[in-house]
Amino acid sequence: MSILGQSILSVDQFDRDAIQDLFRIARLLEPVAQRRQRTDILSGAVLANLFFEASTRTRLSFCAAFQRLGGSVSDTTGFTFSSISKGESLYDSSRVIAGYADVIALRHPEEGSVKTFAERINIPVINAGDGIGEHPTQSLLDLYTIDKEFSRIGKTIDNSTVLIFGDLKHGRTVHSLVKLLVKYRSMKFVLVAPSELALPSDLQTLIVEQGHQLEICTHFKSAMKDVDVVYATRLQKERLSADFKTNYGEEMTINKALVDKTFTSDVVIMHPLPRDSAQTAFDLSTDLNTDPRLAIFRQADNGIPVRMALFTMILGVADNIAGSLKDVQWHSPRKTGKDDAEFPVG
Ligand code: ASP
Repeated sequence: MSILGQSILSVDQFDRDAIQDLFRIARLLEPVAQRRQRTDILSGAVLANLFFEASTRTRLSFCAAFQRLGGSVSDTTGFTFSSISKGESLYDSSRVIAGYADVIALRHPEEGSVKTFAERINIPVINAGDGIGEHPTQSLLDLYTIDKEFSRIGKTIDNSTVLIFGDLKHGRTVHSLVKLLVKYRSMKFVLVAPSELALPSDLQTLIVEQGHQLEICTHFKSAMKDVDVVYATRLQKERLSADFKTNYGEEMTINKALVDKTFTSDVVIMHPLPRDSAQTAFDLSTDLNTDPRLAIFRQADNGIPVRMALFTMILGVADNIAGSLKDVQWHSPRKTGKDDAEFPVG
């Protein structure tokens, strides 16, 4: 299945072969992501990076990925500084921007808006998050992270147990991740969320229809030793009404004490980020920061090679990567955080 010239709107567009292709190319591009090699296969190409909703990681990651391939980036952030604030329709914006760029990454607060935008133009559009809809590139990098962490500890995605925690109703990264994981074999999904934030029923049905096990809990149990991955998410406050009430509390915080008591020594702990650092948010605790089971920063780093791979496949230059790689001449770090393991060489 080729994605050449295509918009990426949903993970439904990826079968397992396409996922494997993407991951193979991402692995090839890891030395570029880690600043040990460089390439300019997208020299002259332009990405329009359009973000009409808050973002740090995704916006910068799209930008860095495109630039590390030698391309350049034009961007706009928020409605205030775009002509949409002057009443311009998404139709006019999309038609105009299509004349300026080779590919567009678009984030917008309305579910389905990225698809509408993409339908009106002839250049590929990547959904960088459409309201509570989907966030395909985040879940592809999440899956890449699971695959990479599992290959280090000798596990496979097939037959694994993934616990997904938090705001499963509004979390678009969760929606995309579930749709990707059901493509694997004999999975077990453990969903931990207050009932008012439960995973939408169509996604629960999809899990069961695809023959996977589904366990729904409102709290963590005292021992969940079969869990291979914990995928935590924050409460999506920006999508909740002012009078929304939930019984989130201290006991829902994933901290070191809970992880030690509940999970095994090789569980992989993930989060799409940002973590909500407000005391009352009860989000993934910082006391896990030096625990090697916490994969969140490795996960965020993986956004670069995965997005690079996607760009090379959409723009049809993936076959030119190997011959284009050169060693960098500038100083590059062996690790980016003080507590990080060094980049594996080779
Ligand atoms: N960064 C992710 C998103 O844009 C997760 C989040 O915001 O909680 O959906």
